[in-house]
Amino acid sequence: FTTALLGLLVTLSIIALILSLVRVEDVTLPPTVQYGMVFDAGSSHTSLFVYEWDSDKQNNTGVVSQTLSCDVQGPGISSYADDPPKAGDSLRECLDEALKVIPAAKQRDVSAYFGATAGMRLLREQNSSAADRVLAEIAKTIQEYPVAFCGAQIITGEEEGAYGWITINYLLESFTKYSPKAHMWVHPEAANSFGALDLGGASTQISFAPKGSFINWNKTSRFMLYGYNYNIYTHSYICYGQNEMWKRLAKELIVESPSSTLVEHPCYPKDYKETISLSSFRTSPCTNQSDPRLPLDDRNVTLEGRSNASGCLVAVKKLFNFSACGQSQDCSFDGIYQPPVSGQFFAFSAFYYNFKFLNLTEGQSLATVRETIEHFCARTWEDLSSNYPEENPERLPKYCANANYILTLLLDAYKFNETSWNNIFFQMKVGSTNVGWTLGYMLNLTNMIPAEAPVWVKGHTP
Ligand code: AMP
Repeated sequence: FTTALLGLLVTLSIIALILSLVRVEDVTLPPTVQYGMVFDAGSSHTSLFVYEWDSDKQNNTGVVSQTLSCDVQGPGISSYADDPPKAGDSLRECLDEALKVIPAAKQRDVSAYFGATAGMRLLREQNSSAADRVLAEIAKTIQEYPVAFCGAQIITGEEEGAYGWITINYLLESFTKYSPKAHMWVHPEAANSFGALDLGGASTQISFAPKGSFINWNKTSRFMLYGYNYNIYTHSYICYGQNEMWKRLAKELIVESPSSTLVEHPCYPKDYKETISLSSFRTSPCTNQSDPRLPLDDRNVTLEGRSNASGCLVAVKKLFNFSACGQSQDCSFDGIYQPPVSGQFFAFSAFYYNFKFLNLTEGQSLATVRETIEHFCARTWEDLSSNYPEENPERLPKYCANANYILTLLLDAYKFNETSWNNIFFQMKVGSTNVGWTLGYMLNLTNMIPAEAPVWVKGHTP
């Protein structure tokens, strides 16, 4: 019996010794860099973004960074409706640039996405076969390159808004954040997510997590990210992008004096002139709603700047149908439901470009912003063109209208006020990564944001 007991004790000691040598712990796999690329085909231009990340850290946030952004030369792809092969060709320079930054051995594994937004939504509405031809040519071109092409699509306005929201919150680590103290990934307060405000050329998007009691389930997207639910309100307003706003504003000013060939434009600087053909309003989907006030001839009309700040604000406000909301507070304009804005917001794309130009991205108060815009709008063309010789002369006369448009959208439509104004950050980048819908789109399509909380790989090391 004693011998058997001794034998058992020896066996147990050996097992204990082996177990003490073999520790169970997290393993670190050798990092391998992976790449992905996404084209953002906006209404006025296309950009290509290349992203990279360590493949062994896929489940963590904050690990995808931007390797390259490349501006495609020429206009937005919807402008190639009459010559679709040119849309494909326009991408070649940026595709070549991308292949220079991705090692040859990795190129065939690169998921390549192409997403088009409001410019193509409008073209599809007008001429769906032309839109299909443009996308087919784009697919043909990308497939000539040694990457894994994953499709060229027109994304919906709601997707555009939601992916912008995901991008910001991913980059700012709102979903999960590494706590060096606890040595683990923790979930920050759900209420601390950032809202997203995006102003494009043809549409504008607002996306945010409304306060609990304001959730209207019909108008809310529900995401499960890292094991937590997020209820996101998102709305995209087509024809409320900046370039479509200019056209609608010009049309409204012209129809107010239908027989003139000279029309005063309160937002353009004094001494600046622009000539526009009435036919251009009929061919554009945001201005051709068979408006009986629009003269039927193809006359040219000259818009003459007046540097009239208050007149500009009044004219811009007329582009919104606020009365369609009646007495409802949970309504932006045109009768669209919107819960009260809550939390902090990132305002990017044209929100940022215009405010950057006006030096208004440093957290200025609403009163300062109003004053700066009023002052800018009063300046003449001579004053502006001599003081901003570097500025694109097509953009310079439009900053007054753009800035008043932004104020109207944020204050009258979305209902930010003096206090909540301070919660808006006008920013285009987080670190070196651009803010926009493309990163969120790629994270989603490559399943890099798991619905469930990540389960860490456990392994044995001797
Ligand atoms: P997109 O991103 O192409 O939809 O363009 C959004 C809007 O921003 C359009 O009205 C562009 O004309 C305008 N925009 C683009 N880049 C700049 C820039 N660097 N400065 C000022 N405005 C810009």
